Amino acid sequence: MRIVVLAGGVGAARFLLGVRRLDAEVTAIVNTADDLTLHGLRICPDLDSVMYTLGGGADAERGWGRAEESWTVSRELAAHDAEAPWFSLGDKDIATHLMRTRMLDAGYGLSDVTAALCRRWEPGVRLLPMSDDRVETHVVADFDDGQRAVHFQEWWVRHRAEPEARRFVFTGAADAKPGPGVLEAIGSADAVLIAPSNPVVSVAPILAVPGIREALREGPAPVVGVSPIIGGAVVRGMADRCLSTLDVEVSAAGVGGLYGARSEEGVLDGWLIDEGDSAEIPGVTVRSRPLWMTDPEATEAMAREALDIAEVAA
Ligand code: GDP
Ligand code: CA
Repeated sequence: MRIVVLAGGVGAARFLLGVRRLDAEVTAIVNTADDLTLHGLRICPDLDSVMYTLGGGADAERGWGRAEESWTVSRELAAHDAEAPWFSLGDKDIATHLMRTRMLDAGYGLSDVTAALCRRWEPGVRLLPMSDDRVETHVVADFDDGQRAVHFQEWWVRHRAEPEARRFVFTGAADAKPGPGVLEAIGSADAVLIAPSNPVVSVAPILAVPGIREALREGPAPVVGVSPIIGGAVVRGMADRCLSTLDVEVSAAGVGGLYGARSEEGVLDGWLIDEGDSAEIPGVTVRSRPLWMTDPEATEAMAREALDIAEVAA
């Protein structure tokens, strides 16, 4: 069986730890709109979160970056008053970005580079960037000195998502092509799952790459989303700040409605929500169960339930 998962970073990585336990060929289509260039290095936070987590090299407590990390280079850069001291880069992590940047500079696509990095990490899941083209989420927000657009990471990491966001812009998305293998993976999948990722800045950019949304809507595979909301709140982090910008209620019903029914203008056939939540979306099969990703076994059971809604057995 073939399963495709639309994936952001940390939430998706945890979800994939469960999906990977199924007897299936799993392809993750990963958001790249969080990517940024600092100190001349191309950094892909969501791809790296998934790669390190599935490869057993992630720092579980911090939630991002490498385990047993050191920070010598970052301290030296700070002493030079280098750009973006708010974005922490560990020494081991920097090695990944050096490898990636060198390959990109040599003319390889991000998907080739990702495959090369995965030869070391062996994530057990095929990782496909949503696009090899540059797409970046920018946030138009109200800062103390007025309204301006900044890179998503600057709003999220530097400003902790505090300045009121007015809009999210996925620069480059309109001209981006789906990454190599992305449309083929969707077209030959038995089921597509949307990971419990941030709907606004992790999943929406993937759907904004022309062709991907259409492939999901027109493809043969059922599409089932897993809610990132539990008990009417985002589990960790600040994703609620993104939903309020779009005037979407922070609830399983709100996020499900944002994705929408495939029979209408949306993408969902099924929507898996937490047992304490409720949602009614015409045209979408909604089912509930505990959605805490406490460990890979519990998460595997969640993924099985999502496949059950899709009416495919794993
Ligand atoms: P990021 O790109 O690193 O921010 O990660 P994602 O976009 O993939 O996922 C972040 C989202 O994962 C958070 O906003 C949470 O709503 C969701 N999340 C984290 N842990 C859990 C969990 O245990 N269960 C569920 N259902 N959602 C979770
Ligand atoms: Ca992310």
